[in-house]
Amino acid sequence: MWVLRQRLSAALLRIIGITTTRKARGNAAEENLSNARRWAKILSLAVPGQPMPRLVCFALSARDRERVRSALREAERLIPAPPNLRVLAVGRRSGTFAKVSACIPPAGRGQFGKLWHGNSLAFYYRFQEPFLVVFYTRQNAYLRRNRNAFVGLLLHEMTHAVLDAQGVHRQLDRQFKAFVRRIDHLRHPRMETLYPVLADVGSIAKLALKELYMVAWLVQRGRGDYLLENYREVFPADRCPRPLFYRSRKSLQDPETFRLTFEFTLSMLAILLPLERLQSSAADEFLAHMEECYLVNLGEMIALFKPLRNLIRKRFSYGEGFQRAYFDAVFKAMRALIS
Ligand SMILES: [Zn+2]
Repeated sequence: MWVLRQRLSAALLRIIGITTTRKARGNAAEENLSNARRWAKILSLAVPGQPMPRLVCFALSARDRERVRSALREAERLIPAPPNLRVLAVGRRSGTFAKVSACIPPAGRGQFGKLWHGNSLAFYYRFQEPFLVVFYTRQNAYLRRNRNAFVGLLLHEMTHAVLDAQGVHRQLDRQFKAFVRRIDHLRHPRMETLYPVLADVGSIAKLALKELYMVAWLVQRGRGDYLLENYREVFPADRCPRPLFYRSRKSLQDPETFRLTFEFTLSMLAILLPLERLQSSAADEFLAHMEECYLVNLGEMIALFKPLRNLIRKRFSYGEGFQRAYFDAVFKAMRALIS
């Protein structure tokens, strides 16, 4: 059971490969310049003497390179990518990391390394410029046989960059900080052990809201089918693990169970609620499959999150008012569970 939960958690992390944005520090112009030089140097390895290309491939066969190039062309036809977005397709992680991380300013390398070596099949990362989408072709076998799912994966990560460029991630960082300040004022007999878990719930909520925005943005633009195709590969219809996240409310006193239950519920809501708007039999089938095979034993959590679900269904927006209400709903659900 533990192993299953770990695996599921890993599967979720794989689809939520995103990270927070940080503001430029110090002399931004100078840093950006040396940053650009670093990139020019590393990228010129790929195309000597040429300006920074949109796509750089590492350790890919010629056929895979062509596959990636064509899927990216298709994704760029479907949504506008920020001009300073760079896409790195990585065939073999080892040996490549040193090259790529040399392009990241030292202060951003730690976080980048965590993502690179983590469970994600793909991730979006930004520390100053450029915006980066990284994905691994080896771990994504379906990329070879399901082009639409592959395009869906690219659209997913590119949309994080689009929303980041619009300043959405910065707003979310502000709301997250406000959430943590509210935790600071909570009184609870077990506060010392609870605090890190509650702060974790805040960052989980932030990541989930980034996912929600990404899915909703693509669905609103009529590109949800590609995303759905990708999710159908990640959660295939012939696998039904029916995970049990907790046995009783009491088991939520275990910090790890508490964190994992929140992570799973929030991530699921973030993906499934906006997909409800897709009107296709494939979407209906997928939602039914997720409900039957993943959202079991979460009845209590789902009930607890009813206000959050209603908020997302009825008052969804990219504005700070909605974001505040979203974090407030998460906070109230969390407080109800620890009281
Ligand atoms: Zn994501």
